[in-house]
Amino acid sequence: MKGHFPIDKFQEIETPFYYYDTQLLRDTLRSIQKEVSKHEGFVVHYAVKANANPKVLNIIAQAGFGADCVSGGEIRASLAVGIPASKIVYAGVGKADWEIQLGLSKNIFCFNVESLAELEVINELAGKMDKTARVAFRINPDVGAHTHANITTGLAENKFGITMHDMESVIEAAFAMQHVKFVGLHFHIGSQILNMDDFAALCNRVNDLQRQLERKRIFVEHINVGGGLGVDYHHPNRLSIPDFKAYFDTYARLLQLRPGQTLHFELGRAIVAQCGSLITRTLYVKQGTAKQFAIVDAGFTDLIRPALYQAFHKIENISSDGPTATYDVVGPICESTDVFGKSVDLNTTRRGDLIAIRSAGAYGEIMASQYNCRRLPVGYITEDL
Ligand SMILES: *Cc1c(COP(=O)(O)O)cnc(C)c1O
Repeated sequence: MKGHFPIDKFQEIETPFYYYDTQLLRDTLRSIQKEVSKHEGFVVHYAVKANANPKVLNIIAQAGFGADCVSGGEIRASLAVGIPASKIVYAGVGKADWEIQLGLSKNIFCFNVESLAELEVINELAGKMDKTARVAFRINPDVGAHTHANITTGLAENKFGITMHDMESVIEAAFAMQHVKFVGLHFHIGSQILNMDDFAALCNRVNDLQRQLERKRIFVEHINVGGGLGVDYHHPNRLSIPDFKAYFDTYARLLQLRPGQTLHFELGRAIVAQCGSLITRTLYVKQGTAKQFAIVDAGFTDLIRPALYQAFHKIENISSDGPTATYDVVGPICESTDVFGKSVDLNTTRRGDLIAIRSAGAYGEIMASQYNCRRLPVGYITEDL
């Protein structure tokens, strides 16, 4: 055992693969439930896009969480593990007709609508099915999050949501339609956010918008503030459970809920990132002119975050206790961006050593591809081994 991993069992499994520590996942879910239960009207939906591995999703479903979906496939995956449709919200800038029809036929809790054009299509499709779609409007709050530019979503320049300027007219449009019911406001400012001030800024914006609507006598049944809480990629062992208390307390303190109003959250990364590791085997150690490379059998096809947004993942040699040396840890894909970490200190690494790429439970397995005709990585949970 090194770094809490069942190494002996790992030896029998074909690499690369994902390993999910389900005790940590369950502890994380319990921590959320404990904090949420302190606040009346708080409801958490798991953002399925972070990790839709059925075994992981099943544990989250068993814990009673709802789902935040961004496609028809995710709605199906959520229903398949027993998440009731009444706890499913569905967002996305480009919902196809079949996806809207699926949501309608299952009577999902709410469509988070991102444009007037989409609202018109939902109304039309619901009419044909003799249904009324519950809709919330995703408002772009023009609140910046202090995170990587590719994962901020709440700035005016992003493609997401309806502008604050158009909010009232879109709500009025919904009131005039027969087959949609306006029930909520939805926001999501980005991902990997660790500064509570960003969420505080969102709270202030929501308060302003609610007051603006109340002046027009428009009442909102629920507010959905999205997700985005980050994790500590540098300390997966020491800070394996995010500070959910600080997160939920920020909303409880600052967001002014009206009587009977519920506050919905869509957490993805914060729930699953730390419980997952990508386990890969060292193929070769190669001496370059100025550095040495540990060439591993996982590539960006298995975990694309470092290549896609220069994301940091802690990397450990879990087979070796030897003195540390410095390596660039790279994959086999024919692209220069196929690098998991530069100048990484690892215990002396040899061919065959197992390497753990930590905090890979969110946006890891689910983003895998078959580029270079590679096989998709398999995901194992503790109970599988
Ligand atoms: C991606 C996404 C989330 C989850 O984001 P995390 O950073 O993983 O918590 C929540 N809501 C919406 C609308 C999203 O697109």
